[in-house]
Amino acid sequence: MLLTPHTMVGIAIGATTQNPLLTVPLSIASHFAGDLVPHWDFYSNTKKEERIVGWRPLALMADIALGIAIGLTTTLYALWVLKNPMLAINVFLGGVGAVLPDVIEAPHIYMKEEPKFVEAVAKVQSRLQFQAPLPWGIISQVLVMLISFLISANSLGL
Ligand SMILES: [Zn+2]
Repeated sequence: MLLTPHTMVGIAIGATTQNPLLTVPLSIASHFAGDLVPHWDFYSNTKKEERIVGWRPLALMADIALGIAIGLTTTLYALWVLKNPMLAINVFLGGVGAVLPDVIEAPHIYMKEEPKFVEAVAKVQSRLQFQAPLPWGIISQVLVMLISFLISANSLGL
C-alpha cells in the first residue's frame, strides 16, 4: 500500500489502543496486513531501474509528505486541542510503526548493495504484496483510509 493509508491505519490503532505496548507491535503488524489488501502503488509492475527515474520518486515524495502531514496534524491535535500527551504519543508511534517496514526497505529500492537485514525485510514484503489493477487498487486504499479516519475520529472524540 501507499504510505498515506499505512499511516492512517497506524494512527487509528494508536488512537484506539492508547497503550504504546499495544500500539507499536499492532501498528507494525498492520503494515503487513495492509499490504495484503489488493492495492496499486508506484512500484506495481516495475523493474528496479524504472523506480528511481521519472515521476515515481516525485510521487513517492508527495506520498511521504502527505503521510507525515496527517501524522503530525493528528499528533498535534491530540496534544494541543485534546491536551492528551499520552494519546499524542500513541498516535505518533502508531503512524511511525505502520510505515516502519517500508522505511527499513527503502535502501532496497535505491541502493545496489544492501544489508542482509534489509534484504530479509524486502523479501517478506514482496511475498506479502497483493497487487490490484487501477482503479480497484486505489479504491481499496481509499476505503482503508476512510475506515481508518472514521475509527480515529471516533476514538479522538470528533
Ligand atoms: Zn510494505
